Amino acid sequence: MPIREGLLVVISGPAGSGKSTIVDRLIDQNPASARRAVTATTRKPRPGEAHEKDYYFLDRDEFTRMADNGDFLEYTRFNNNLYGTPRFSLDREIAKGGVILLVIEVAGAEAVKRLFPDATSVFIIPPTPVSLRRRLEKRGTESREEIESRLGIAKTEMQRIGEYDFLIVNDDIETATRDLAAIIRVVERSLICGGELERWEQGHFADWHTVCIF
Ligand code: 5GP
Repeated sequence: MPIREGLLVVISGPAGSGKSTIVDRLIDQNPASARRAVTATTRKPRPGEAHEKDYYFLDRDEFTRMADNGDFLEYTRFNNNLYGTPRFSLDREIAKGGVILLVIEVAGAEAVKRLFPDATSVFIIPPTPVSLRRRLEKRGTESREEIESRLGIAKTEMQRIGEYDFLIVNDDIETATRDLAAIIRVVERSLICGGELERWEQGHFADWHTVCIF
């Protein structure tokens, strides 16, 4: 399934890696061209999280009904909650064009990459295990048991970093956001998709420095 209308960027990383903050910043900085595909979960909202902005917060029955209807592109259980990518959410954003950011865990990312082989995948990690624990504790939104469970899941997830196209080490949010923007710029510019002569004649490449062909 080639993505003609937009560029799909799948982002994964352990809880506490800062991936949501980085994605939100990138979108704030590029509101006209970058958007998030909102996913669904049975997890309760954290303080400050809003329905339809951060997640579609569903109860278990609603989620199961959608899953049975085939309304999810993929879904999975994560730390005793269900998470899924609603087809309508991703389809709608892809149809709008631009950069679509999908923040999901590794099994979901694998499923989405299978469906959209042209998607770019980025894994985000904190610099050290100590910093990961510190960030989760500082966030203060999870119980001690939940933090331990998420740290365990983080180790399993990080064994799959090699399946991703890019790795960002988030030592500093500003730098990591700039890195993600740079990755997107490089990938966008490497998409040789036809019509380059016309675009060149129209001056489309005037301020470009390099076009990568992988
Ligand atoms: P959190 O509870 O921290 O918001 O999310 C837990 C994990 O589920 C994160 O790694 C997040 O990226 C992932 N996630 C969020 N939505 C989806 C989804 O629709 N599908 C899958 N597979 N994972 C998701």
